[in-house]
Amino acid sequence: MAHYLTHARIYTPFVCIEPGTLVISDGRIVAVDHVTALPPPRNAQVTNLEGFWITPGLIDVHIHGLLGYDVMGEGLVEVCRLLPRYGVTAFAPTTLTLPWEETLIRLRHMARLLARSSQGAQPIGIHIEGPHLSPKRPGMANPRWMRPLTLEDWQAMQQAAQGHIRLITFAPEEGHGAVLIPKLRAEGVIPVIGHSDARFDQVADWVQHGLTMATHTFNAMRGLHHREPGVVGAVLHFEDIVAQLIADGHHVHPVAMKILLQAKGPTGVALISDAAPLAGMPPGEYTWGTYRVIVDGSTVRLPDGTLAGAYALLDTGLRNLINLVGLSFQEALITATVTPARALGVPKGIIRPGYDADLVVWTPDLHVAFTFVQGKVVYTSPAHDTVLAPKLP
Ligand SMILES: [Zn+2]
Repeated sequence: MAHYLTHARIYTPFVCIEPGTLVISDGRIVAVDHVTALPPPRNAQVTNLEGFWITPGLIDVHIHGLLGYDVMGEGLVEVCRLLPRYGVTAFAPTTLTLPWEETLIRLRHMARLLARSSQGAQPIGIHIEGPHLSPKRPGMANPRWMRPLTLEDWQAMQQAAQGHIRLITFAPEEGHGAVLIPKLRAEGVIPVIGHSDARFDQVADWVQHGLTMATHTFNAMRGLHHREPGVVGAVLHFEDIVAQLIADGHHVHPVAMKILLQAKGPTGVALISDAAPLAGMPPGEYTWGTYRVIVDGSTVRLPDGTLAGAYALLDTGLRNLINLVGLSFQEALITATVTPARALGVPKGIIRPGYDADLVVWTPDLHVAFTFVQGKVVYTSPAHDTVLAPKLP
């Protein structure tokens, strides 16, 4: 049966249609238009969403977990179930730097879980973040376990993950890691520069060979110096690089976020949460993998104060781009929908016929009322649980 969602304000997100109507069927978007231009199909379930805003579902390409659940284990199932309440409908479960053998064991486990179908947000491939990082830019990761990326390591990881790896964050300047960039691209994997101390001229060369993304821009990368623009300068300069951005208000100063968005525009910036498995947990001391971390109610840190992933989820980042950086809702939305979907080449992130019916229905103060994944309601906020109930004739 088709769903006919009507009288809402719809952000495609490039265009705003009000009052707008959306027809979804078999998990896909069938039509979207102004209410007067699109009558309900026969036998469709009609839902009046006057006063609500509909957008594409948010896509988080860099997330380690939330609410005590770690994507590198059983917790992955719960992460799928919980993310829709934050408006996230698709995500890339992201690994943590651990000893090499442990990394492979965890990847095997993740692959087994990914092979089963799960309820909620859809995993769209594993994102590897470590151990192929630069010990000079470790962030929270333990430099003892770091090693240059080699063909053998890449093959071992992708084999353990049964082909589920879609993104790999690494420092191409370590060893001969950079030579793998074209191979990763040829295999449909996104090479992501991150935790890197590379010089600008090195990054410029890798862009020629297919480098297309940067992990948590500004954090754990060589900064911009006016005579050596570094990794940050390269990310700002090259249109081909999509810049991941954590907008939790702690990892990047609002002015730095604004400079990045002015340089690249919303289609060049992918909003990420980088949420730690402790995101959303009460203040206290916890373990993440083998790391001891401290949660204070707004950040997650190592005992020495280093930020260890983020505490906020993607919906908070979206609101921060509007409230702290001054983006319009449509601009902010593009960074969390269109940009990551295009980078991954998935038919999501835009409300357009033929695309997946992954949708978020928001209240005008930007809180999630309902979330749809492939046309099915996977989350209903307790405040709105009567709106979607089928009306009796
Ligand atoms: Zn991370």
